[in-house]
Amino acid sequence: MDFYFINCFDINDKIYKMVMNKQKGNMYGFVSHTWNAIKGKCSHDCSYCYMKRFPQNPIRLDEKEFKTDLGEGNFIFVGSSTDMFADDVPNLWIEKTLEHCRKYPKNTYLFQTKNPERFASFHKEYPEDSIFGTTIETNRENDISSSPPRSFRLAGMLHDFLRCKRKMVTFEPIMDLDVSIVTDWIKDIKPEFVNIGADSMGHNLQEPSWEKIIKLKEELEKFTKVNLKDNLNRLKK
Ligand code: SF4
Repeated sequence: MDFYFINCFDINDKIYKMVMNKQKGNMYGFVSHTWNAIKGKCSHDCSYCYMKRFPQNPIRLDEKEFKTDLGEGNFIFVGSSTDMFADDVPNLWIEKTLEHCRKYPKNTYLFQTKNPERFASFHKEYPEDSIFGTTIETNRENDISSSPPRSFRLAGMLHDFLRCKRKMVTFEPIMDLDVSIVTDWIKDIKPEFVNIGADSMGHNLQEPSWEKIIKLKEELEKFTKVNLKDNLNRLKK
């Protein structure tokens, strides 16, 4: 994830109903809110992480967030500011976060991680309407992140637990890739939709041509929906 949204709280702890952050900025258009109970430095340490522009505390569970009313009819990206399924996040923190989500069953929840193999460890604990996602920037290995390699992410998304679940994949920030290989990967994952977006912060990533992005879109649209983000327009030149 390369999004950062600060969750608000009253420092005197006098606000008993906290508020979620409305989706804004360079976020998914389909998400209405973000909510982060697990906060702090993400061990995946992606070179392009938006969070790195801010001072980062160690990873922690912010118990105050469990006063947040998640409401109903919302589409909530849970864990938009750090990867809550990274290996160094304790099970208990994830369980408590999912428990709070289950108290508000009339929402749709997006859980997105670069460590999707861990989704299955909490198989009985997700709210009913959950979408499970992962990031695949490219099929080509590189050293831009300490997160599990893309082949592991692919394996995680093919886990039996996810077989009949709602899934999504995001290519953001997209990097140069092999269209036929990633198309086969996505075909195997069977996501409900795919998001494609660009690095918006000038991290000098190796990016695909605009023509290749359009080719990828065309191939993916043969079996799933594709959302192209406006931040790709820079690559049209
Ligand atoms: S996985 Fe972690 S380090 Fe990488 S972009 Fe997401 S929050 Fe940042």
